[in-house]
Amino acid sequence: TSADRTFRPPATRMTVTSPSAQIGTPTYSLVVPVFNEEVVLPVLLHRLDQLLAKLDGPAEVIIVDDGSTDMTGIVAAGRAKDDPRYRYLALSRNFGHQVAITAGMERAAGAAVVVMDADLQDPPEVVLELAAKWREGYEIVYARRLSREGESRFKRWTAGLFYRLIRALTAIDIPADVGDFRLVDRKALDAFLAMPERDRFVRGMFSWMGFRQTAVPFHRLSRTLGQTKYGWSKMLRLAFDGIVGFSDIPLRFALWAGTGVSLFALAYGFYIAVRALYDPALVSGWASIVVLVSFLAGMNLLMTGIVGLYVGRIHTEVKKRPLYVVGRAVGFPEDEQDATS
Ligand code: UDP
Ligand code: MG
Repeated sequence: TSADRTFRPPATRMTVTSPSAQIGTPTYSLVVPVFNEEVVLPVLLHRLDQLLAKLDGPAEVIIVDDGSTDMTGIVAAGRAKDDPRYRYLALSRNFGHQVAITAGMERAAGAAVVVMDADLQDPPEVVLELAAKWREGYEIVYARRLSREGESRFKRWTAGLFYRLIRALTAIDIPADVGDFRLVDRKALDAFLAMPERDRFVRGMFSWMGFRQTAVPFHRLSRTLGQTKYGWSKMLRLAFDGIVGFSDIPLRFALWAGTGVSLFALAYGFYIAVRALYDPALVSGWASIVVLVSFLAGMNLLMTGIVGLYVGRIHTEVKKRPLYVVGRAVGFPEDEQDATS
């Protein structure tokens, strides 16, 4: 919401020891959402250090703690205190992956912002390729999964189904096999932050805005440390947010299904009427009544549910609550006082 995103250089800090402290405006901001990732975090920080050394410009890392209840916060905040390239932003509770990403991007100061998972399924080295494409002039560079190692056949199948469904239902071109691992230019980032919607499907929002986009292929590794933080309910929620947020075809489906069922009922009624003329003893047919009534009841419930999805979305929008609440921020130059707390 704040229009003023100018990066204020850190105020003179007595305790600064690292030579890279005065990085000024970073070229790159890496946004990494974490939710109970204490097992991966030490390895991740090590790999990020290696990446930062190879990047062709100063970079900051924003670790967004999405309400972790393990040691994640202590480790990440400690790093943010000691190393001026690292920042730690803790949300006050678990707000979900998509909101955590948004929170990190709002605080990013870099000219290019990279979003990546913490679990090293998105290999940090790929960021170098994303950056190279950005240098060529692309404003959005997303990483496309060529393979998905170590994921169950069922997950790959449902993911494939989801991408096909959302591509069929929406007018915008949401690329298949692309998650949230991507680099966005400041211009695209500002457009993204100007989108106020509360149920966020980040990859769809970036596809929607256009700009010069390109893909970098990579092999998605399996998660070697820790466990997935995307349970079934979170995955379903993401799928519904994606479809409901970008398509109103499900709503119009009610119209077509209703028309179809009515036409069928009309034809069937006509058929019964004609049959009754020739067969005065006709009283059978309770089976067809039961089938028709339960079918119509099912249709009604389905349609009410679909409408409910959209009404629920309107409900969250109308409340106008903030997207997230920040619990703690460490290492951000603009609120230096936190660094000592
Ligand atoms: N994550 C998060 N909040 C959540 C769930 C996940 O910030 O509510 C983070 C998680 O720590 C990881 C990234 O989002 O960095 C992707 O999650 P995960 O690897 O569990 O998803 P998967 O790769 O299994 O789809
Ligand atoms: Mg993962």
